[in-house]
Amino acid sequence: MTSELAGLLNSPEAARVGAVLVIDLAALTANWRQIAALAPGAECAAVVKANGYGLGDVAVASALWKAGARSFFVADIEAGVRVKAALPQSRTLVLHGVPTGTEAELAARDLIPVLSSLGEIERWGAYARRLDRKLPAFIHIDTGMNRLGLPPSELDRLCNDAVSILDSMDLLAWMSHLACADDPSNPFTAEQLRRLRTALVRLPRAPVSLSNSAGIFHGADYHFNLVRPGIALYGANPAPWLPNPMRPVIRLLARILQIRDVAPPDTVGYDATHRITAPGQVAALGMGYADGYPWSLASKGVALVAGYPAPVIGRISMDLLTVDVSGVPAHLRRVGDWADILGPHRDIDQFAKEAGTIGYEVLTRLGSRYHRIYING
Ligand SMILES: *Cc1c(COP(=O)(O)O)cnc(C)c1O
Repeated sequence: MTSELAGLLNSPEAARVGAVLVIDLAALTANWRQIAALAPGAECAAVVKANGYGLGDVAVASALWKAGARSFFVADIEAGVRVKAALPQSRTLVLHGVPTGTEAELAARDLIPVLSSLGEIERWGAYARRLDRKLPAFIHIDTGMNRLGLPPSELDRLCNDAVSILDSMDLLAWMSHLACADDPSNPFTAEQLRRLRTALVRLPRAPVSLSNSAGIFHGADYHFNLVRPGIALYGANPAPWLPNPMRPVIRLLARILQIRDVAPPDTVGYDATHRITAPGQVAALGMGYADGYPWSLASKGVALVAGYPAPVIGRISMDLLTVDVSGVPAHLRRVGDWADILGPHRDIDQFAKEAGTIGYEVLTRLGSRYHRIYING
């Protein structure tokens, strides 16, 4: 631990909370540069939806802006307003598009919707005509995700009548999204690329964006003009078939609140699910499921205390969890110290696997209660 970090963890602010989330902005920007270098012909945007995957969208976007990122994707207008206010020169793109009644706010705030249907395109165009100017947009074409994006029937109508439909549009890009890019053996990724290309030959020329983090690792065919990494920036493995090429960005620490001796026939926690089988020590940590620590990790998770594994025992409580610290040398387990929950020594993806979920969910559920410390900014 650097002395800078040790100082921050001993600060009066950190003393007021049970858990601390340390976010390494130098690792974040290094990850962005690394991804950008993989797609040298394309603009490298940054997806900062879900509050920057739980790390703080404004802080993340501001650090990436300084590193050279210019386009930021958020889910909704509320997040868009926040990012745009912090970075007025940025291109802030709203993935949920333009819900009815929000046209004026999007246009006034210079937010760019990603349009997903003909109805939405027509409504955005009609508003542009009222303002008597062209309004910017990305248009999302569905190539098989069946989530957002123009379905094939609407795409046909757009192709047949593109000039008039796009008349009031400053079309910044055609966009699509890959469903299976994290599995290189799945042929559907190549099929989506083929469908996108088939659509593009029938549409007016504009820049194109297809790849999320995993898609970028499929090579230059998938890069087009703009790539949209999210998870890779935050340090989870974007290409699960490779050793994780990204730098860890977060370190999640929980305070040791109390340590007690236990012996059979003691039990630990709610519903007395954990039975003590030998004399030992149990520590209570200041973090629980309300902070995003998965309830499913009862009796399965592992924390690190002074670098020694401390298995989670018993149920996860709302803002506490209990770990067995019997294996930690007595002089290294101290009330007030910090236990490592996630970070360079506790991989996000491994943690997610143990919890029966994915790294995306682990990150985006990082609680709002954490004292967030940004380092190397
Ligand atoms: C979330 C999202 C991304 C980023 O995906 P990652 O897998 O996190 O890189 C890119 N594009 C769209 C449309 C998304 O919804």
